[in-house]
Amino acid sequence: MTLTVTELNIPGYEKVVKAYDMASGLRAIIAVHNTNLGPAVGGTRLFPYASEDEALTDVLRLSRGMTYKSSLAGLPFGGGKAVIIANPEDKNPQLLLAFAKFVDSLKGKYICAEDMNTTSADMEVIRTATPFVAGLERDGGDPSPFTALGVFSCIEATAKKLGIPMSGLHVAVQGIGAVGRRLIEHLCEAGCRVSVADRNGHKVNEVIEALGVKGVHPDNILFTECDILAPCAMGAILNDNTINQLQCKAVVGAANNQLAEPRHARRLQDLDILYAPDYLVNAGGITNVAIERQVGGYNMKDAVKAARHIGQRLLDLYAYAEEHNITTAEAADRMAEQRFNKK
Ligand code: NAD
Repeated sequence: MTLTVTELNIPGYEKVVKAYDMASGLRAIIAVHNTNLGPAVGGTRLFPYASEDEALTDVLRLSRGMTYKSSLAGLPFGGGKAVIIANPEDKNPQLLLAFAKFVDSLKGKYICAEDMNTTSADMEVIRTATPFVAGLERDGGDPSPFTALGVFSCIEATAKKLGIPMSGLHVAVQGIGAVGRRLIEHLCEAGCRVSVADRNGHKVNEVIEALGVKGVHPDNILFTECDILAPCAMGAILNDNTINQLQCKAVVGAANNQLAEPRHARRLQDLDILYAPDYLVNAGGITNVAIERQVGGYNMKDAVKAARHIGQRLLDLYAYAEEHNITTAEAADRMAEQRFNKK
């Protein structure tokens, strides 16, 4: 293996490095945005980026986002992310081991975990060549159940804020994936009325049959009259075309980057729609990683407790936004910055 590592000088980032390994064909970039609060923890995304520039843009944006997410979640982590430029079909142990060497070269400044097109099984392969890995099958493993539990606790908290009992709450869930499916179960157990949509009709039929929820056409789910809209599919769904048509009192979901642009947070506030900042709501996965790294090792009970606590963090954030007369999105950024800049 002849790994060539080159450092890129990117203002505002602690360390950005790219690697190339001819033997395995590895092309990857690791961005460490900030380590004031601890090692930079973040997923490793494998994706067939059209160019190195596109991969760099993505890894810079994602690593910065991780600094904010971990800080707001109160975790001892900084923000980092890695991207591997490859087709998912071309993923193989040789490629993952070359990537492991790349991670190892940073000596613990960056700790990788699963992300798009990488799994906890891949992390086990990477672990054979570097200790700087989280989300192993033997530890916390798949973060989705904890993400779903965190989203559910935020829905409970928001219902409380709106003064609606869970038994009378109507939630519209967009996306029945790893997070959405679990979330729907939690909502049904709590006695909520649930409407669901997915582009995959089989998933909709399965959940209607198993849990008795109501199916909605994917084109209409965002505009369903409900108390809480839970986007659990894709980003940028809160935009100029959708916001004016929303018929919910609050938006609380797992999807990353729900606001197409920061200004959309103000528009939601003007319409009296409470927006729960996505990176606070979907922090259950990273919280689970923190439990893995606690003294004494991973403990499922602690992971569940930590995910359930996210709802209280959201209530604190709602209060902070009101007190300072700013949007909830501005409050999230400000609270996160205060913590990671203080160190
Ligand atoms: P997933 O890929 O398992 O599921 C996404 C689901 O959304 C799929 O069933 C897909 O068919 C559906 N979908 C896509 N576009 C749709 C549309 N326009 N209308 C209706 N359904 C549509 O993903 P996931 O792991 O459940 O994650 C969901 C979201 O939460 C993503 O945005 C992800 O980035 C974010 N997130 C996930 C985690 C996690 O732990 N999995 C953590 C943080 C954030």
